[in-house]
Amino acid sequence: MARATRAIINLHALRDNYQLAKKQAPDSRAYAVVKANAYGHGVVEVANALSADADGFAVACVDEAIILRQAGILLPILVLEGAMDKAECLTALELDLELALHHLQQVDWLKDLDSGVLKVWIKVDSGMHRLGFSSSEVPALVSQLRALSVIGEIQLMSHFACADEPSNPFNLQQIKTIQTLEPIKLNWSMSNSAAILTLPQAHGSLIRPGIMLYGASPIQHQQGADIGLQPVMTLQSEVIALHQLSPGETVGYGQGFLIERPSIIAVVAIGYGDGYPRAARTGTPVLIKGKQYPIAGRVSMDMITIDVTGGDISIGDTVTLWGTGLSADIVAEQCNTIAYELFCQITNRVKRQYVGSILTNR
Ligand SMILES: *Cc1c(COP(=O)(O)O)cnc(C)c1O
Repeated sequence: MARATRAIINLHALRDNYQLAKKQAPDSRAYAVVKANAYGHGVVEVANALSADADGFAVACVDEAIILRQAGILLPILVLEGAMDKAECLTALELDLELALHHLQQVDWLKDLDSGVLKVWIKVDSGMHRLGFSSSEVPALVSQLRALSVIGEIQLMSHFACADEPSNPFNLQQIKTIQTLEPIKLNWSMSNSAAILTLPQAHGSLIRPGIMLYGASPIQHQQGADIGLQPVMTLQSEVIALHQLSPGETVGYGQGFLIERPSIIAVVAIGYGDGYPRAARTGTPVLIKGKQYPIAGRVSMDMITIDVTGGDISIGDTVTLWGTGLSADIVAEQCNTIAYELFCQITNRVKRQYVGSILTNR
């Protein structure tokens, strides 16, 4: 049989997670954030699975939006970083994309366009200091944009720096900054997954759920299941070798694991070449036959080694790295990272298998 390394993507869970986001913010529209190949889940399959329910999609760049349009997605698409040059502004018009505007240069590119109607989102820097105009610049910018023939609806967007820490007072400070713009009476959007779950006063007219769609927690020290989310990606491989080792022997690169008692070490066909994080240290759990076992020694490119001493493990047994039965949030914490990065890093060598029909039965 072929190498068993696979990411099983549960599209039912994806749709349920989207509905959970909608339920949190019943008066807002929700654009499903599908940037970075839908956080590694496969953007075309994810977008198709959500297209009967979603109000629209958000991607990072125009190239990602083109993939969705080529796949036949007709719903609104917001480009979160906006256009990178004038040609992308033209593409946005042709493909009916909504562009974020975070810089005056992007406004200049629009000045020369005369036909079409472009929806734009002024990116307001409410404190993150990554992209956007300061709130004091916004009123004049709105007037400037209204004078351009190509500009359709103008809306505001902003982004939280610390929404994953619900008690951080900086969140309220950022909301206040957006509220100072109320007199100009434009719709606004500022909620990522964490804010959707914890800051109802920040829901605005449009929410932008990303990580929660994929079932992982956007909030520090919580797991997706604590919030009622279901894992979408289950990453699996299988045991391809077993070794009985004695005290004093060592396992893997750098002799990374020292055997201290008679042990059984299982070799599993997944490594950092598949996107399994090399940062996963000894002790990081994997799931075999419903039981957790620890990684023993360094992650290699194509394999990992697991201490399965005392378990009834055979060659060919399925190993779950994260997903159903083992939260990606737990694995991420062991690797000093977040589930976002684990998902995005899964490489093309890993086959994606989709379960749950792509088309809804509506
Ligand atoms: C990625 C992104 C989101 C989604 O964030 P999650 O934490 O994954 O929900 C929302 N808004 C912007 C601007 C983003 O870049």
